Amino acid sequence: MENSILHRFADELSKLEQTGNCRKLPLFTQNGSSILREGKNSYNLSSNDYLNLATDATLREDFLQLISKDNARFGASSSRLLTGNHSLYEQLESQLSRLFGTESALVFNSGYHMNVGILPAIADRHTLILADKWVHASLIDGIRLSTAQHLRYRHADYAHLEELLLQHAHRFDRIVIVTESIFSMDGDCTDLTYLVRLKHRYTNILLYVDEAHAVGVRGTKGLGCAEEQDCIQEIDFLTGTFGKALASLGGYLVCRQPIRDYLINKMRTLLFTTALPPINLMWSIFILERLDRFEDRRQQLGKNSLLLKQLIVAKGYACCSESHILPLIIGDSNATVRKAEELERKGFYVLPIRPPTVPDGTSRIRISLTAEITTALIHQLAASL
Ligand SMILES: *Cc1c(COP(=O)(O)O)cnc(C)c1O
Repeated sequence: MENSILHRFADELSKLEQTGNCRKLPLFTQNGSSILREGKNSYNLSSNDYLNLATDATLREDFLQLISKDNARFGASSSRLLTGNHSLYEQLESQLSRLFGTESALVFNSGYHMNVGILPAIADRHTLILADKWVHASLIDGIRLSTAQHLRYRHADYAHLEELLLQHAHRFDRIVIVTESIFSMDGDCTDLTYLVRLKHRYTNILLYVDEAHAVGVRGTKGLGCAEEQDCIQEIDFLTGTFGKALASLGGYLVCRQPIRDYLINKMRTLLFTTALPPINLMWSIFILERLDRFEDRRQQLGKNSLLLKQLIVAKGYACCSESHILPLIIGDSNATVRKAEELERKGFYVLPIRPPTVPDGTSRIRISLTAEITTALIHQLAASL
């Protein structure tokens, strides 16, 4: 019995292998912005360390100055509802609500916990969730775990969203519109002010925006696209992760007080998991304290992105990116894999993205830039394309 089940797993895996879709965990050593893999060094263009904070040795040294054997705690030992709610949580959450100018904030173990937990807590069967077709897997899982009805609107197609609202809004108590601000596959940005205006035409819409790829990177204070588009207060669930540009771990929500109080009672991925280690909270606080000082890096990242986009377009590729994430759309999956291998040989570590992550026929190389990459290297990269 047990054996036949294992056989079936093995069969499925070999099918994945045959179609070039079997995933393995790559092993490598990181050395600053480079990675060493199978004896070869290449420049890392697949990391989310957009501001190079995770590899910044000075920052790390400054942080270590603050640590002693008395305050370094590496485990929280229980859920926040029990004894895991260290005073550092209080500090980090008030720091977040001060920065964003919101009534309250709530921190989660990761962006994944956050998205998987918030939606089931706030959406019941009288709720309709309208999500952009391309939202992240964690949001899709959150939708699946909720008892709400849901529909997906075509990516960034707000006319389609309005059509769905006209058809369905009157039948539900509550509508939640779910989107990201920078999309991780095309690097395009959501028109948040448009969604805010749309929301205000109804009385029962809540807006949920995931800034995972934008926090740290966009806005003069680094708070994300909502800061840039001046609509932080208008977004009911403004969320992001500490795991990408902020170089730490955890998810955050800034919101009105009743939403926070409600989630503390209803959100299973907040209640039934061990709290973050205090040392991790200290590091997140340390990074947030310095967030506005990284404006030079944000500007450099913006310049780098613009330059690479111009060079990609000059090469004849279509590129709809409006951010530091730039897709090089090739189409065919095998050709994309070959291109990624070729680029690695030329010294750039990029990953091929294939269906089902992206629609059929749009396989691509996904380049994520950092602030630190030099202009010379960007030209060299473009020449290698
Ligand atoms: C990366 C990502 C997450 C997950 O965040 P983690 O903190 O890594 O769990 C959630 N949403 C989006 C849009 C992401 O890109």
